[in-house]
Amino acid sequence: MTARSAVWHPFTQHGLDPPATAIVSGEGACLETADGKRIVDAISSWWVITHGHRHPAIVAAVRQQLDKLDQVIFAGFTHEPAERLAKKLIARAPAGLAHVFYSDSGSTSVEVALKMALGFWRNIGEPRTGVAALEHGYHGDTIGTMSAGSRGVFNDAYAPLLFDVVRIPFPYAGLEQATFDALDAAGRTGNLAAFIAEPLIAGAGGMLIYSAAALAGMKRICERHGALFIADEVMTGWGRTGTFFACEQAGIAPDILCTAKGLTGGSLPLAATLASARIFEAHVSTDRARTLFHSSSFTANPVCCAAALANLEVWDSEPVLERIEKLAEMQEAALHALSDPRFENPRRLGSITAVDLKVADQGYLATVGLRLRAHALSKGVLLRPLGNTIYVLPPYCITENELERVYDAIRSAPGAVA
Ligand code: PLP
Repeated sequence: MTARSAVWHPFTQHGLDPPATAIVSGEGACLETADGKRIVDAISSWWVITHGHRHPAIVAAVRQQLDKLDQVIFAGFTHEPAERLAKKLIARAPAGLAHVFYSDSGSTSVEVALKMALGFWRNIGEPRTGVAALEHGYHGDTIGTMSAGSRGVFNDAYAPLLFDVVRIPFPYAGLEQATFDALDAAGRTGNLAAFIAEPLIAGAGGMLIYSAAALAGMKRICERHGALFIADEVMTGWGRTGTFFACEQAGIAPDILCTAKGLTGGSLPLAATLASARIFEAHVSTDRARTLFHSSSFTANPVCCAAALANLEVWDSEPVLERIEKLAEMQEAALHALSDPRFENPRRLGSITAVDLKVADQGYLATVGLRLRAHALSKGVLLRPLGNTIYVLPPYCITENELERVYDAIRSAPGAVA
């Protein structure tokens, strides 16, 4: 028996999964293994890398910032990168978001959003406590975010710790009315503090796409009942869906918006929860009990903020949206060329594509997922299917040849694994 690594990996069954592949470097859309193989990173290293690995401008900004200030407590102190970044984020975000609370992962950005919502209602003297969330949602792996997310094998063991939320049916095309009715019913209780949803696409829930009209409809119902609308843009932000934030496509302005992953171009961990002025103002008081009681040691780390500023500079100075549009076209063409009848439900939103492989064993634990992963890796491609759902969510700099390698791995998958 070989000695086990001392590392405990995330979402990894160490009793079944193959040993982790050691990566030594990354550039553009590719990673390089310790034994010199190049792997196309078709999932942007868990959806974080936007412009490519090690974008020179981001690397340079990180180096420069490290020479000035590495870390400082963010309660009672502030720094220029965080201040500047907050202004720039607000300028890029949907109208009405006026304050930025920093944290360090998508999960924490959502935890903060939930705490802001509950704090808001308590502080204005109308203590609503209900939370509604969309079916198939995924918002992270902390206790609060697991509570808001779909229940299943991922969180069964922790169920006694999770709080109840009102589960709103997913707005599948043609079935939106059921979604609206359920949300309306939750609103009519008068206790709905907030509704949280991933705009336009449930990512980890299976890359399930819904319409901008449905998103706008859900927002309208929240407004009607005074419930706060939390847009979890952790995955959808930074151009993935074809616009900077997905909410833009529905013309909606959420009360709270969560962003992480692509915030630093994927280079360093940083997250932000943006809130409207009235949510912030409800926490401003001479009474300390009304404080937003949340922090983490590395809140607004200056190096991460510098990386995020450099990322925004890339957005300002390079044709990123045009690049995404071109990638979307390449993705669409490649998806359509998948003619094997064992593929079903091909779908695309912006630069993301997904297709389901017809197999008997479905769902996240389906072993076909593991076999698909191994097959892709043998072809020099990093894919991480969600059960039998294969998706491609690459960095925007991926070349036609690299994308062809990705789809070659997908095309040959049914024969190899089904
Ligand atoms: N919210 C959404 C929509 C996500 O897709 C994810 C992660 O995939 C998260 C939250 C959690 O983010 P993190 O893994 O950075 O905690």
